[in-house]
Amino acid sequence: MTVMVTGGAGYIGSHMVWELLDHNEKVVVVDNLVTGFEWSVPSGVTFVKADIGDQSKMEALLSEHNVDAIIHFAGSVVVPESLEDPLKYYRNNTGNSRNLIEAAINTGVKRFIFSSTAAVYGEPLTTGPIAENAILNPMSPYGTSKLMTELMIRDASAAHDLHYVILRYFNVAGCDLEGRTGQSTAGATHLIKVACEAAAGKRPMMKVFGTDYDTEDGSCIRDFIHVNDLVNAHYVALNFLRNGGQKFTANCGYSRGYSVLDVIKAVKRVSGNDFRVVKTDRRAGDIPALTANSNRLRTRLEWEPKHDDLDLIVSSALEWEKKLLTIRKSA
Ligand code: UDP
Repeated sequence: MTVMVTGGAGYIGSHMVWELLDHNEKVVVVDNLVTGFEWSVPSGVTFVKADIGDQSKMEALLSEHNVDAIIHFAGSVVVPESLEDPLKYYRNNTGNSRNLIEAAINTGVKRFIFSSTAAVYGEPLTTGPIAENAILNPMSPYGTSKLMTELMIRDASAAHDLHYVILRYFNVAGCDLEGRTGQSTAGATHLIKVACEAAAGKRPMMKVFGTDYDTEDGSCIRDFIHVNDLVNAHYVALNFLRNGGQKFTANCGYSRGYSVLDVIKAVKRVSGNDFRVVKTDRRAGDIPALTANSNRLRTRLEWEPKHDDLDLIVSSALEWEKKLLTIRKSA
């Protein structure tokens, strides 16, 4: 049995590959290398440079490698970019996923795990951690493109022998605690990555987008989950499907929020570097506060997070920034 990881040369995908290897799984990585890096694929893992929208190629790969489950990460992930270029998101996240789902059905792959997002909720109508049965009202093409894929998976599963887990990520951050992979994306926009780059002297300053929100310190609040805990949620999801589970949708987060200013304080404290921070206007599409109710994942799949610690998230991300300097020099 082989697990196919799409986007396996990217940030979360490359952590998933290590999680699977740690559990002695056989893995095939498919990535088009638009944002991923071939060097992040561990030696010994089959790597195929391909686009997941290329349905005949994907059908050939699924059959050739005897794939029993697909863990689907490949896609575009930047909310502000999705507002400027929505069709890119509907192509990469929705259209291409449609072809991959059909490839799975045509080749008899019965297990599908999909990387979705808290952005499917839009702005919560209630305060506090948000549960899976909340209204789905995405406020960006990114969120809509992921929600459309959730619906395709649900409908395809009702009509075919395809079982699925949909995981809605809150803010994924940090890097592999053994230093084997990390977040390497150039031109990063995500908060902890940006702050760690500033702390590592890779950028002269960073901006805080909005300090006039209706929150305690005026900046946005997010639920940051360590990437090692997140990929472990996928591993328990894989076992759920292999043990006969049929359909499951759950939030991935710690149910605890930190503000943007809290995060920057943590990065300054852990790095010991008081980098320059400039407060600017709100960023389009940002939701003031978003935290996960993750009871469903904890109780139904018995997922137990091990790294619910902002300083640990930050220190692992800082370590990776240092390591990237040596990787880039030798690449
Ligand atoms: N943010 C910020 N400065 C940055 C990057 C992000 O102030 O350089 C804020 C952003 O406005 C949002 C929060 O950090 O309120 C999380 O943004 P991110 O892009 O990391 O993830 P998102 O929640 O949009 O998926």
